[in-house]
Amino acid sequence: MDPEFKKAVDFHRHLCLDIAVGYRAAKVLMREMGDQMKNMKELVALVGNETCALDAIQEITGCTFGKRNLYLTQVGKPVYILQNTKTGKAVRAYCTYWDTFDHAQLRKLRKEATAPNATAENKAAFQKLTDDKINEILNAPDAALFKIEHVTLPPPPKSGKYDAEPCGNCGEQTNVALLLEEGGKKLCKECLQVGVH
Ligand SMILES: [Zn+2]
Ligand SMILES: [Zn+2]
Repeated sequence: MDPEFKKAVDFHRHLCLDIAVGYRAAKVLMREMGDQMKNMKELVALVGNETCALDAIQEITGCTFGKRNLYLTQVGKPVYILQNTKTGKAVRAYCTYWDTFDHAQLRKLRKEATAPNATAENKAAFQKLTDDKINEILNAPDAALFKIEHVTLPPPPKSGKYDAEPCGNCGEQTNVALLLEEGGKKLCKECLQVGVH
């Protein structure tokens, strides 16, 4: 296994199709960004959906949730962006690989392999399909996996620092922008949810 890919797999703690896709996305985005990547402090990653690929993006690009330079945009697509927030210049990769991927076959073999009465053959068949597809993803040309575009975007809003006030119910210090007015009190989201506090 490529040592850099192994780092992503180790961080994620398992080997799967999406970690391979995330690894390839990170690599192509970093290469296409070129000089725009010189200052890590200006770099952000934007990811369109929540999948295992996120862990490879974090490990390979160095943009992480903890550093607040990774944004989950929830646009609901396998789209990965690296951006220089100073210039606005970004590279966007939409994963086309899944468009033609046989999801039904994968689901069928997974179901058979994880059923209580699964045979060794069932398990081997699922393992083989997974291994083959991971190899395919790792070795495919970039153009077979992604639609890649150079775009200029407004930088995402800075996150992390916030002004806090106590919640009108639990008294816990909460980001003022996230306190919601109810019955003349400003309440935190936990207090507004039934069954919490
Ligand atoms: Zn995974
Ligand atoms: Zn509260």
